[in-house]
Amino acid sequence: MTTLQIEQFPCRSDNFGVLIHDTATGATASIDAPEENPILDVLEEQGWQLTHILVTHHHHDHVEANLALKKKFGAKIIGPRDEADRIPGLDETVGGGDKFKFQEFDVEVIATPGHTLGHISYYMPGAKTAFTADTLFALGCGRIFEGTPAQMHESLQKLAALPDDTVVYCGHEYTEANAKFALTIDPDNRQLVKRAAEISALRANGEPTLPTTIGLEKQTNPFLRAGDAQIRQHLGMIDASDEAVFTEIRKRKDNF
Ligand code: ZN
Ligand code: FE
Repeated sequence: MTTLQIEQFPCRSDNFGVLIHDTATGATASIDAPEENPILDVLEEQGWQLTHILVTHHHHDHVEANLALKKKFGAKIIGPRDEADRIPGLDETVGGGDKFKFQEFDVEVIATPGHTLGHISYYMPGAKTAFTADTLFALGCGRIFEGTPAQMHESLQKLAALPDDTVVYCGHEYTEANAKFALTIDPDNRQLVKRAAEISALRANGEPTLPTTIGLEKQTNPFLRAGDAQIRQHLGMIDASDEAVFTEIRKRKDNF
């Protein structure tokens, strides 16, 4: 039986690199290509050959190593159709609702606009894993650079609808700062208080706080909890729409 081996490692100042490896065929994909050398190091350590790059969005810190890795390995680059002209080396484009195969594994493309207009996330139901890049972070969400708060809210709701036991890999290690902010929005959430302490301990040891799960985020991430009564009370927005509550939380984070 084939399994998917996943390696997560730091890149740049606060990005994550992620490699996924199909043990049956040896195929290996990089989720985005933030930085060449750390990716090469992990490939070498594992004895893997890069065959694919799955791009989530056009930002420099997610595509910088595309061309170098393509040149070295001939890796096939798949990425968002709506940002095709801004992503170097694309071989194949995909959009929300598309499905393709990474060897035996189904990959579902989820349109998650907001951070950028064409941002996509990759969901692999057979591996119970999602790659959400700069849309959903542990205890946070991406800054809204190109889209609207309504778009980002809808994108996050799509991710929140995945099964609770879905393991989530994100683009950045922002969790400790996110936890500090989350506590200002949801201070009486005991699970959040406990998680914030665990995160501080991990970071003090230089350890990553990712991956996370959809279930844990739904319990502790304020950006997925706009419907929560305590948060609404805390914000004085008892009767507001979820979208309005989300927008207020995002605004507060921008000014935090
Ligand atoms: Zn980005
Ligand atoms: Fe980024």
